[in-house]
Amino acid sequence: MSCPSTVFVDRDGVINRKPREDDYVKAVDEFELLPGSIEALARLSKSGMRVVIVTNQQGVAKQLVAAATLELIHQSLENDVAAAGGEIAEILTCPHIADSCDCRKPKTGLFVEAQRLHPEIDFADSVVIGDSQSDLDAAMAIGAAAIHVTSAPGDGLSPVQVESLAAAAEILLEERND
Ligand SMILES: [Mg+2]
Ligand SMILES: [Zn+2]
Repeated sequence: MSCPSTVFVDRDGVINRKPREDDYVKAVDEFELLPGSIEALARLSKSGMRVVIVTNQQGVAKQLVAAATLELIHQSLENDVAAAGGEIAEILTCPHIADSCDCRKPKTGLFVEAQRLHPEIDFADSVVIGDSQSDLDAAMAIGAAAIHVTSAPGDGLSPVQVESLAAAAEILLEERND
């Protein structure tokens, strides 16, 4: 994996603690950052990579997550990364229910939207960091590399597996210095 120019980062289970199955981050105080994730996002950005967050949030369509709450959480995330000296280029959300749109990962709509906003994005020069099969499948669909964040690295589901976003950033930053 060569050092990418764009890093697509999943949210739940990568940046913040994943809610229980069939639950959602419904309030600002339910958004619990994982250790090192803000610093990792800032380091990637400071090294010259474009950081785009792509997140499935069907809790919005289910009316369990208010759009205003989502906005507050994402504003706070952007502020935290900025305070650490980095920048999030975009946070793109699919608020739709499963099987009703073209943007819920593993579909590619969020990635296509990122490219519309930033035409210089080259999927072949991008990496997707995620904890779900849908992230890995989306990466495959756009022709990007993938890093799988998993509590059980080495289960053989994907070529590059790490335990945290911080570890993923470490791999990408090491490659930059090669
Ligand atoms: Mg996730
Ligand atoms: Zn959607």
